Amino acid sequence: MAKRVDYSLEVSSTSNKNPDPIAEGSKPDHWVDKAGTAFQNPWKSWRPHTFGERLALLPTAMSFPSPPKNIAEIMPIHKPTWGAGPTKSTGGSEDSDSSPKGDGKDQIKTTWLGHACFLVELPSRLGPSEEGRGVRILFDPVFSDRCSPSQWMGPKRYTPPPCNIEDIPEIDAVVISHNHYDHLDTHTIRTLLKRTTRTPHFFAPLGNGPYFKSLGVPTSHTHIMDWWESKRLVITQSDSKKPLAVDITCTPGQHFTGRSLTDFFKSLWAGWAVEEVIEDRASASREPTKVYFGGDTGYRAVLDGQNEDEVPVCPAFETIGNKFGGFDIALIPIGAYLPRQFMSPIHCAPQDSVRLFKDIKAKRAIGMHWGTWILTSEDVTEPPRRLAEECKKLGIEEGVFRVCDIGETLWF
Ligand SMILES: [Zn+2]
Repeated sequence: MAKRVDYSLEVSSTSNKNPDPIAEGSKPDHWVDKAGTAFQNPWKSWRPHTFGERLALLPTAMSFPSPPKNIAEIMPIHKPTWGAGPTKSTGGSEDSDSSPKGDGKDQIKTTWLGHACFLVELPSRLGPSEEGRGVRILFDPVFSDRCSPSQWMGPKRYTPPPCNIEDIPEIDAVVISHNHYDHLDTHTIRTLLKRTTRTPHFFAPLGNGPYFKSLGVPTSHTHIMDWWESKRLVITQSDSKKPLAVDITCTPGQHFTGRSLTDFFKSLWAGWAVEEVIEDRASASREPTKVYFGGDTGYRAVLDGQNEDEVPVCPAFETIGNKFGGFDIALIPIGAYLPRQFMSPIHCAPQDSVRLFKDIKAKRAIGMHWGTWILTSEDVTEPPRRLAEECKKLGIEEGVFRVCDIGETLWF
């Protein structure tokens, strides 16, 4: 049996990675007021919904499609092995580009747990002789059946979670993109807190402090951050192995927030960049890895009948690509995009996702934010099909920006 290794976790430093620092005394463009109690999308690529548009969505929402009867065949669910065993119950991933190279310990592992929830494990060693595990980050965990204020009504899962919350391996950080119910779930956070003897660190955008406090997350483990703020998480292991460290940076995106009728735009939304930190580059056998998590975002606001290529796009993604110099793997939303006029300001359709992928200079990507709840009017199996078409149009090679099965682990 593997020797039990004790880990200690600490946040060692905080910095700001904004390529355009905010002048002293002025407020950031995405703050509505100087106190930072409400937020906005500060770009021409954003258009707020009119009251008429919201009203017009109601009948559409009544007739959202149902999942096909054979959904269990179309979207098989695998019990996660987290990379320790065959990635699928049918045995091994068919795609060699996303299979482990050697023992896979120099690679990033991603396991999709449905919708926007991923467990990402960074490479587990810096040098060839080291053992142990890499830094583990759980993004946007939601295991409840309905993503709604109530478990009696609201969108209900059509694909089950691939495991129980208790089955998730020990994690170091839980990173949340924003407070919508399909990304932040009270039951899941409570269960994660209860099941572990070592509390993970929670990272979330501005305005979410009171929420985590109400669930009993210690202040020392709650990190509420503005766009471009960055924190270094250091994991020290008891057996004198070199500490593992990552910089976790909150990045801009185009979206909105609110869990009730009174808190629209009162907390911030974000994507996240995770960079492995290798202090002693000379003795490391590889480059530090970088992961991007897109959360929930739109890319441009398109009106029906408008030429999509002529509307302004959100400039934040190009800035992110330049600032971080690209990513080894990006988790990018591809679903919840119809009706296009209503959804485009807040959600990427595949034609947006592929452009975002290029803007952030990612080497590889997995499409997420689909396959779990019916939130919009496109057919539930359409996003991956459309993604493949859009990749082809932009000359993105097959398998470079792909989807995976729920519960499946891939290596990058
Ligand atoms: Zn959202």
